[in-house]
Amino acid sequence: MERFPASRGAQNGALMTASSSMQSSAGHAKPRTLGELKRIPDFDPRGASRSVKNEIRQNLLRAIEKGETLFPGVHGYEDTVVPQIINALLSRHNFILLGLRGQAKSRILRGLINFLDTEMPVIAGCEINDDPFKPICRGCREKIAAEGDNTAIAWMPREERYVEKLATPDVTMADIIGDVDPIRAARGGRDLSDELTIHYGLLPRANRGIFAINELPDLAGKIQVGLFNIMQEGDIQIKGYPLRLPLDVLLVFTANPEDYTARGKIITPLKDRIGAEVRTHYPATLEEGMTITAQEAWVGRDAAHKVEVPTYLRQVIEEIAFQAREDKRVDRRSGVSQRLPITTLENVVSSAEQRAARKGEKAVVARVADVYAALPAITGKMELEYEGELKGADTIARELIRAAVGRVFSKRFADVNFQPVIQWFELGGELKLPELSSTAERYQQLAKIQGLMEHVGKLGVQDRKDAGAAGAAAEMILEGLWAHRRIGRSEERGFYAEKPKAVEQRERDIPGRPPRRQFN
Ligand SMILES: [Zn+2]
Repeated sequence: MERFPASRGAQNGALMTASSSMQSSAGHAKPRTLGELKRIPDFDPRGASRSVKNEIRQNLLRAIEKGETLFPGVHGYEDTVVPQIINALLSRHNFILLGLRGQAKSRILRGLINFLDTEMPVIAGCEINDDPFKPICRGCREKIAAEGDNTAIAWMPREERYVEKLATPDVTMADIIGDVDPIRAARGGRDLSDELTIHYGLLPRANRGIFAINELPDLAGKIQVGLFNIMQEGDIQIKGYPLRLPLDVLLVFTANPEDYTARGKIITPLKDRIGAEVRTHYPATLEEGMTITAQEAWVGRDAAHKVEVPTYLRQVIEEIAFQAREDKRVDRRSGVSQRLPITTLENVVSSAEQRAARKGEKAVVARVADVYAALPAITGKMELEYEGELKGADTIARELIRAAVGRVFSKRFADVNFQPVIQWFELGGELKLPELSSTAERYQQLAKIQGLMEHVGKLGVQDRKDAGAAGAAAEMILEGLWAHRRIGRSEERGFYAEKPKAVEQRERDIPGRPPRRQFN
């Protein structure tokens, strides 16, 4: 027989609920009937039927008092979003998260589950999770009348008390609220208005739990009205049949801020009933963004080829998102999701992994070229403005990478004189770093450039002779010099002196002249 885990939590609470009293009485068998439920030691019937909002409120206060992490995995909202959500929940408000895509809105809403009791008693078999002490559906009321204390009880884990729906214009009243089931009606020989013939929608099924609607403005006005009525009075109409259903639900929503504030998208009475608008945001600092990206990206792989992504490259990847969010050619209304750096990092790792597999290398260090190889992970994550469309997503993405590299480079090398390196190119030096060259090949080429390797320490490289780390860092330096237009670079990752055009032009003008000797 199942036993309840011992828990001290309930001792601090003012009211004992069915569930919390159970947790405090460790060692008792879990009640299976209404009668057993009533006989729990230290059971307080006043707390047995507390609303979901009160339940969350009490559990949240307890978690705050204990100093627990309230939204594990959510970073950068500690001083902004989280305190506002706490206030909404303590106020027992329904609330909406207003924010652009990829701002962890869904993660926050799903995280609300943690503030529910671990398990909740319900009348067994009830579609709307009826409270054994306060059933609202007619089926349960009839059952209790017939079976009394023998009425069977089931225990619902909190994970099942969260219902989520993405609003789209074709979501119907039947989806959200419910529908009359003519087959059931015919089978039971019941009148259509009998509530036993109702096929419940998502909202009634979320009774005594949390119901989340994503992109609320996309919900048809008619359904918003239905939603409002049930929030306000617990009354609904299904196909013209009035039905009283005093549901107990915490309603939470998400929306794009501009959609939400646009006139006519949300019916006013519904807006009035949403207790709090909480604005989410993108990470404020590169470090916060990197923390989120590192947490979400699939980097630690079990493959035979170990890939290391240096910190400066992670900064470049994160900086791409920061650059994109500020770029006028990228649509700000849709935003640039945190999924951009996450998928880019994953693709960078894959690109290095692919190179390692082709070259038969056991361990490789990711390089700037891998960020360019991750272009497909970048282009799809930005909606472009007209000017951007004209240039094309690929070009914009390349420019963003270049700007990101330039930024990270400036921070690390503000006080370094790269004149010897630049001079090496000006004296005719040239090198190519093809995508599929081996680590050793690249290192040999890069090591020949005077004054280059002595700066890789600033990118965190411990050993200048470490071909993987030092080679990748040296390539980053060249890329940085190119980003600041100090040297030139071709699409094929060849580096040369700035103003190579004139040289090429001159060469082309001399027929029969042999191609320039590669400087390596
Ligand atoms: Zn019921």
